[in-house]
Amino acid sequence: MSTPSPVNRETHELPSSGGKSYPPIEMWRFGEPGARPKAYIQAGLHADELPGMLVLRRLREALEEKAARGEILGEIVLVPVCNPIGLSQTKGGYLVGRVDEATDRNFNRGYPDLCALVQEKVSGKLGDDADENVRIIRKAMRKKVAAIEPADAYETMQKALFLESCDSDIVLDVHADNEAQLHLYTGTVNWPDAKDLAAELDARAVLLSDESGGEPFDESNGHAWVKLGAAFPDKPILQACLSATVELRSNNSVSAEDARRDASALLRFLTRRGLVAGEEGAVPRLLCDAHPLRAMQQLRSPAEGLIVYKARLGDTVRTGDVLAEIVPPLGGEPSEVLAETDGVLFARHDQRWAWEGKVIGKVAGREVLEARKGKLLTD
Ligand SMILES: [Zn+2]
Repeated sequence: MSTPSPVNRETHELPSSGGKSYPPIEMWRFGEPGARPKAYIQAGLHADELPGMLVLRRLREALEEKAARGEILGEIVLVPVCNPIGLSQTKGGYLVGRVDEATDRNFNRGYPDLCALVQEKVSGKLGDDADENVRIIRKAMRKKVAAIEPADAYETMQKALFLESCDSDIVLDVHADNEAQLHLYTGTVNWPDAKDLAAELDARAVLLSDESGGEPFDESNGHAWVKLGAAFPDKPILQACLSATVELRSNNSVSAEDARRDASALLRFLTRRGLVAGEEGAVPRLLCDAHPLRAMQQLRSPAEGLIVYKARLGDTVRTGDVLAEIVPPLGGEPSEVLAETDGVLFARHDQRWAWEGKVIGKVAGREVLEARKGKLLTD
């Protein structure tokens, strides 16, 4: 009989703010602390993007079975509800979890620049051994993040999550879109390394960028290594973190079937990556290609009115196709929203009311669009 792998349930308290108190953040740690590879997976950073929380509950149950059989080989940290602050915000009968209502900050922006944090500390310590450099840099990252002094509940939460993710080999931040097919955002440097993740999850779009703007969680972890490579061009610096934002279809689409399938996909991925013992099987066929985030058209409404979509999720569209009409309910000509690229319509908005400039859909195109500059994500 094999010895069970350790499983630890840890809690991180959050301070109360503005008279509101919050439940602590709960983390499950599987495997020996310090074992490699290390994966960090969280859900609910945008607290109203719901399906990931059920997926991580399922994954936690599967990993507990693996742990009981002594089959955890690396270290896995799961945070099924990573944002108790967002989860406490309700308005008009709805959970409103994208933006911190106390400070108006998007919960998935403003994570620390790890490269800037450690650059001075590691300068002079790095040598010609790439693996040793990774160890030195990770140790410095943990130390620097641990020293951050948070000013409020929002920053305390950011720090608790980031401290655990910053030295990981794999970081997955699980979100969902308004109404969407499953898609991934990841660094250009992580492709095609992340292809097995995309294929296991049956992604229908993969968007690549170096810097999407605003320091989202996944990018702040993974892109630090690209920046360190540029900061120390004469030292071997590996891309030591595969980070991705996983967009699990639609915010409100929570189903037992999807959760089971997605949790199994993540378990096979973790098995293939050597964190869990077992048979992962062959990598399934990926049904999309990866394209630059700058080739993704954000469909913007030209006017106020009702959104009447003329294309379905997953439709292949061509430049000039009418993807939606914006219809003024009191009369007058509808305005058209056109595809400006050839690609796949992989996201729409679930609330069919638009105003000028509102993003009402996303098309994964192949060719970079000149207009896509600056901040590439929707705030
Ligand atoms: Zn999100």
